[in-house]
Amino acid sequence: MTVVASLALPLREDLRGRVPYGAPQLAQAIQLNVNENPHPPPPELVAALAGACAEAAAVLHRYPDREALALRTDLATYLHRATGVALGADRVWAANGSNEVLQQLLLAFGGPGRTALGFTPSYSMHPEIAGTTSTGWVGVPRGPGFAVDTALAVAAVRAHRPDVVFLTSPNNPTGTPTRLDVVDALAAEVRGVLVVDEAYAEFTDAPSAVTLLARHPHLVVSRTMSKAFALAGARVGYLAAAPEVVDALRLVRLPYHLSALTQTAARTALAHVDALLATVADICTQRDRLVREITALGLQVVPTAANFLLFGPFADPPAAWQALLDRGVLVRDVSDGPQLAGWLRVCAGTEAECTAFLSALADVLTEDR
Ligand code: PMP
Repeated sequence: MTVVASLALPLREDLRGRVPYGAPQLAQAIQLNVNENPHPPPPELVAALAGACAEAAAVLHRYPDREALALRTDLATYLHRATGVALGADRVWAANGSNEVLQQLLLAFGGPGRTALGFTPSYSMHPEIAGTTSTGWVGVPRGPGFAVDTALAVAAVRAHRPDVVFLTSPNNPTGTPTRLDVVDALAAEVRGVLVVDEAYAEFTDAPSAVTLLARHPHLVVSRTMSKAFALAGARVGYLAAAPEVVDALRLVRLPYHLSALTQTAARTALAHVDALLATVADICTQRDRLVREITALGLQVVPTAANFLLFGPFADPPAAWQALLDRGVLVRDVSDGPQLAGWLRVCAGTEAECTAFLSALADVLTEDR
């Protein structure tokens, strides 16, 4: 950033002073800071991936399927199984992580002179991507318990008439689910597109907003293979929406945006969906254990429906974050900003990782007293 500034490059005015997304990547620590699945893909999937990628490698001189139709068909099959809603491939879209899906949505429906609105605190990349696509941003504070209050949300939408609204369920970083009647009421009010970001949907039994798609043509549900599917490294996100929304995204995507290797990896993973999602139960068990044991240590935990949780309050969260890192455990400091002052976020790791985290936390708290 300093180099960019000192070279006097013709950087866009609205990008000056911004800092790149930068959750620390410290391979030597126990990494519980970016809500990944702690379980690597099972050996049979690794073998299948190697075989499938070798086959794809033999035809890498050709561009991949620009429309990723086979992958979108497989994703539709998975969504049918997960939500009970039958969708054609024309209602499903895929990109390099759900971050790219969100970026494409803002390229198509946001932009200069337009506004996106979200309910804070929530996923930091929603306002970030709004910024990089020159879309205005309105953050509306969540209510008590970090829930989205229907009346306040509807009033905010009436006041700002946003082109894009983000609703995250379960919400990151609070873990809070959003009831479907809230989504339904908002969807009836929003004139632009309402994006329900369900990156953590597999960790909750709450029904998916996919079940509301037939009622609301402007509703978009985005999902990812980075969390429950243990495929963060492959970068695969997707959405379900009306065919018209998918067509709009085809205007802004780069040609051949999803590589042949990515499409192959995602399809192979989807063919092993049971083995992959078998880890979800273990992750939820560890999450519930973290809730119990952190509470027993005298701290508070925000009720969560995701694979992570907020814990605190700490008088000096950056110091607590550093003290945990000094003991080999990397969590997320989300405490900057008034709404989350005092809180840290941790995601459920393996049983051994959670044990190490809890023991580091007990140690830090003892030293503090
Ligand atoms: N949405 C939410 C709410 C997230 O927490 C994340 C990842 N942290 C994403 C989207 C993006 O994930 P990916 O790009 O890996 O699909």
